[in-house]
Amino acid sequence: MKAEIITVGTELLMGQVINTNSATIARELAKLSIPTYYQQTVGDNPERMFESIQLASSRSDLIILSGGLGPTTDDITKQVLAKFVQKELVEDEEAMDKIIRFHKQSHRPMSPNNRPQALAFEGETVFKNHNGLAIGGAVETEKNIFIVLPGPPSELKMMLEKEVIPYLKEKFSNEGTFVSRYLRFFGIGESRLVTDLEQLIEEQTNPTIAPYAGMYEVVLRLTANGDTKEECEQLLDDLEEKILSVEREYFYGYGEYETLLSITSDLLKNSGLSIASAESLTGGLFASTLISVEGSSQYVLGSCVAYQEAIKKNQLQVSQEILETYGMVSVECAEEMAENVRTIFGSDLGISFTGIAGPSPMEEKEVGTVFISLADGVETKTIELHLARNRNGNREYAVQYGLNKLRKYLLKKQ
Ligand code: ATP
Ligand code: MG
Repeated sequence: MKAEIITVGTELLMGQVINTNSATIARELAKLSIPTYYQQTVGDNPERMFESIQLASSRSDLIILSGGLGPTTDDITKQVLAKFVQKELVEDEEAMDKIIRFHKQSHRPMSPNNRPQALAFEGETVFKNHNGLAIGGAVETEKNIFIVLPGPPSELKMMLEKEVIPYLKEKFSNEGTFVSRYLRFFGIGESRLVTDLEQLIEEQTNPTIAPYAGMYEVVLRLTANGDTKEECEQLLDDLEEKILSVEREYFYGYGEYETLLSITSDLLKNSGLSIASAESLTGGLFASTLISVEGSSQYVLGSCVAYQEAIKKNQLQVSQEILETYGMVSVECAEEMAENVRTIFGSDLGISFTGIAGPSPMEEKEVGTVFISLADGVETKTIELHLARNRNGNREYAVQYGLNKLRKYLLKKQ
């Protein structure tokens, strides 16, 4: 089963609208283990759209089109596809009723060009539009399955979820069911992770392993195929165990949309502990990141941006001796910053960031050297990093490492 996506719309070709529908559709297909081999974008032009469909039909099995189901004259997708598959378009009664009701309720006159929104391929599957008026549909020919979906992303997503995915699952029910699981890793690069797991990835056919790199992390999507959901879960458990036996140190969580921030924030909230930060190179970015999460006022007390030496000394009471002997970028300074911000702010935890964001070196230390300390009143622990991104990349990465340090601490405390 090879899929192809055709997004329709001159506004896409001109760059006026970013083509998010292709990504949405491809992601949903991937979850069903249907690979997308090609994506095309074509304008609202009948000849070129026909050619696109022709090309897709020659090389792909499942062809999903989005856009051009609306009421305006440039909305011609169903008409062009109908011509290609030589099927009649007929008015779907239920869809037409909905259009009439919508206009009555909103006291708007219905115009004749609303009628095409209710058009369906004769004798074929209809996909309801739960977020709008134009219905979608599927057409099955000897060679292909064609699916047409509306352009507006909110309508497309809902139709995919409520209509198309169940349809595809049913269609391929003899191929069993598919379950995906996402494993998220921090502190290891994609190339290293893939190298570590090379043999497993190569040999693995069910579940499949698909790695992809995020901004600061690597995600593995495992997709299992089996007769039942339970069977798939068992296959996923087995594979997960194999992967984590190698990479447990870097594993931080599950879920397609989880992040280090969301997971750490949840842990912090559930711990009942409060936190304050002392930030040099991150300049408040750590606190700002924590505060971006709803409900953070329960556990974030505040932050001291102590960028220059005088502020570290006067506001955070870092001793002159430490500053003179070890410098601002040192374990000793980081630890005092964390301990002192904790007592000054009266929080349970104090975390500090000091380092050299770059591009110029400082205190004869390498660019990218960062110390992060976490103090809880009993002990203070520090990590030393050597980051190799640009200035702001290093600052952001340091924040992620801070979150990870906090996460590990909270997990231990549980
Ligand atoms: P409508 O009933 O709104 O006319 P339609 O099904 O005819 O819907 P289009 O006219 O092609 O769809 O697109 C409507 C709007 O949906 C576009 O102006 C654009 O904002 C958005 N849209 C269309 N295609 C895409 C796409 N591939 N990715 C993101 N947004 C899109
Ligand atoms: Mg339109």
